[in-house]
Amino acid sequence: MKLDTRAMRHLASEDWRVLTAVEMGSKNHEIVPTPLIERISRLRGGANGVHRSISALAKVGLIARVKEAKYDGYRLTYGGMDYLALHTYSARKEIYSVGTRIGVGKESDIMVVADNSGVQRVLKIHRLGRISFRTVKSNRDYLKNRSSGSWMYLSRLAAMREYAFMKALQNEGFPVPEPLGQSRHTVLMSLIDAFPLRGISSVPDPASLYADLIALILRLAKHGLIHGDFNEFNLLIKEVKTSKKNSETNEEEEAIDLVPILIDFPQMVSMDHRNAEMYFDRDVACPFFKDAKKLVAKDGATRLDATAAASGFSKKMAKDLEVAMREQIESRGEGAGSDEEEYDESDDESEDDEDGASEPVVIGGIGAEEAQEEPLAEDAGKLKVDG
Ligand code: ADP
Ligand code: MG
Repeated sequence: MKLDTRAMRHLASEDWRVLTAVEMGSKNHEIVPTPLIERISRLRGGANGVHRSISALAKVGLIARVKEAKYDGYRLTYGGMDYLALHTYSARKEIYSVGTRIGVGKESDIMVVADNSGVQRVLKIHRLGRISFRTVKSNRDYLKNRSSGSWMYLSRLAAMREYAFMKALQNEGFPVPEPLGQSRHTVLMSLIDAFPLRGISSVPDPASLYADLIALILRLAKHGLIHGDFNEFNLLIKEVKTSKKNSETNEEEEAIDLVPILIDFPQMVSMDHRNAEMYFDRDVACPFFKDAKKLVAKDGATRLDATAAASGFSKKMAKDLEVAMREQIESRGEGAGSDEEEYDESDDESEDDEDGASEPVVIGGIGAEEAQEEPLAEDAGKLKVDG
């Protein structure tokens, strides 16, 4: 279930229309009945060929026939949603080509993409529900029996939330990637030319970096926020050239500053959350939540923790997502570092070297029509979510 752009070039405009129709139909139907796909596709301008398109889309896995249904129907797949998102970015001229995958979280893919002028960016694709959790935890009861549709819906929420927080943090001058766009289950952001702290074996001045990291946590707290997954994978360490005065010679010398950039925001929680202390202490790895709490909104700091609510999140949406994110983080186990070992790629249909990923795949200009913008947040609330 990773991004596979191979079939993108071969889709006719009719196919795009039908794919969009399946997405629109999913707003109110977990399984979209074929007659409804036909009706929406025709409304959008086509006359014939809907069935041909349905087969073509199902063949490349962008929609899936649901067999046990009482009626004949289809659902959108992650692959189909990937294509619709890329189509939207391409129409907005925000993405022109798709390059390699640089990161595989358990439940996300991180792709390097390029815009129309060749500037590299990062596309984060949320894929909640991709893994089957191996640890049995109470959260599972809440999450089990989720249909793939509702996982995809939660992935959209995760992307919307991540984008909203990234914007809010950027506005307050936090060191985060620049949020550039959002579509469906994906977020487009600037590429940070830096490695995660995890891969850095030694730093010249650990005490000073540590102080910077604690300062960052407290600065978030002041704005009412807890990152919720503050660890060595979610901190990119940028080397910035500066100059420093040599205390002996009194001369300016070149020096390298290590600047931490914070990423990965869908699980952020409010300092007022009922479990805030637990989340905070886990981030800091030593308990001083009560001191931090005194900082909230000090010196006129803007509260950012209402950001998600302000971007159209209902309480139910927030809770579903919180449980899913917590499960994802906790299932990594102690040390939060077992991503690579635990993620089982055997589900993926193709290996990295088979998909020609070393060559960027051009998607710009694909699809004759305007890409369909996704449903607005208000509409998204109508999606069927079970549990
Ligand atoms: P996940 O939710 O799966 O943990 P992250 O947002 O933490 O996803 O990204 C996973 C990895 O991808 C990061 O550890 C980092 O190496 C890389 N990455 C993510 N965003 C960027 C970015 N904007 N620039 C450079 N690398 C990135
Ligand atoms: Mg991460």
